[in-house]
Amino acid sequence: MDTVKQLVVKSGLVDVKYLNTPEGEMYLQIAVASVAVGIALALYLATAAKSEPKKILETPELTLSTTEAHAMLPTITDWHRMKLVDKTALSHNTNLYVFEIPRPTGHVKGIHPEPVLGLPIGQHISVSAEIDGKNIVRSYTPTTLDGEDPGRFHLLVKAYEQGNISRYLSLLTVGQEVKVKGPKGKFVYNRDLADHFLMIAGGTGITPMYQIIKASLADEEDKTQMRLIYANVNEDDILLRKELDDLQARSNGRFQVYYVLNNAPAGWTGGQGFITHEMIKSHMPAGGVGSKGKVLMCGPPPMMNAMKGHLDGLGYPKPNTISKLDDQVFLF
Ligand SMILES: Cc1cc2nc3c(=O)[nH]c(=O)nc-3n(C[C@H](O)[C@H](O)[C@H](O)COP(=O)(O)OP(=O)(O)OC[C@H]3O[C@@H](n4cnc5c(N)ncnc54)[C@H](O)[C@@H]3O)c2cc1C
Repeated sequence: MDTVKQLVVKSGLVDVKYLNTPEGEMYLQIAVASVAVGIALALYLATAAKSEPKKILETPELTLSTTEAHAMLPTITDWHRMKLVDKTALSHNTNLYVFEIPRPTGHVKGIHPEPVLGLPIGQHISVSAEIDGKNIVRSYTPTTLDGEDPGRFHLLVKAYEQGNISRYLSLLTVGQEVKVKGPKGKFVYNRDLADHFLMIAGGTGITPMYQIIKASLADEEDKTQMRLIYANVNEDDILLRKELDDLQARSNGRFQVYYVLNNAPAGWTGGQGFITHEMIKSHMPAGGVGSKGKVLMCGPPPMMNAMKGHLDGLGYPKPNTISKLDDQVFLF
């Protein structure tokens, strides 16, 4: 405070001749208080000015692009919470679930594109929930490609009465959240991966195939030939049938689907019973074994075991316990 007093006297704010009079002392005190407030205000403004750029740097919106959608999954290794925004029954035991991808901090609707999962084609996500005190995790392949339903992704999940996550999902109501992590899996699709794919799917095993077929057909430079053998128990169990038929119609012969039913109705023109060695042979794309072609399989374990036997009989190598991208027979 003495320094401030000296400053006040030196600056001439109080006349020196009044300094030792009561009037001078009063002026001095008022002037000292005013200067002290001024110094404090200046110090506060200087500190605020210094901290302002730091605040801007910390705002993630500066890293958000206005042309490219923010990819949600690969940026964080931890679990994300995704809100269920729609749920539709597709058959007596299968629902289509639509989840909202959370917008990152600083995202402005209409300025920044809606976020995407950022899942490479052919990969899947993990969904986790605490059930009876235990953390349970299962894999699911979204049926939507990034940006197909802006800011959202779809899962098609068959509910098992005794199941854990599939049952948990079936009991979810719109507005509730699930924990999601990814990307997961060894398969990453690109147009040069193979000349052709023979795809064998059972039930919800269709989801990775559907993702790959859609991505491949959307790419005008992609020449990959795709043949899908899709097995189900009953006709109304066939998932994504309209979508698959539409893709076939628009594929210029690049994609063909052959449906097989355990219980075929009268007049059914597709396959009947279980998938056989002969069905695989007759639907194999030109080139077959030994060419730059791959077999992709996804379905219930008993069906997959039967398929491994058929493929062995046709001269294909045995799939590895955990498939790798280079394998000729890839089991999802
Ligand atoms: C890469 C990958 C992608 C997948 N994508 C999808 C997908 O998009 N959609 C989808 O619905 N599923 C998909 N699955 C299967 C999914 O991960 C679960 O295995 C399935 O939902 C069952 O899990 P759950 O926790 O409900 O049952 P679990 O806890 O695993 O099983 C408990 C009980 O449920 C019943 N059950 C479970 N699975 C079957 C079955 N296949 N056949 C008969 N009974 C069964 C049995 O009674 C079993 O004892 C995928 C799996 C993998 C590996």
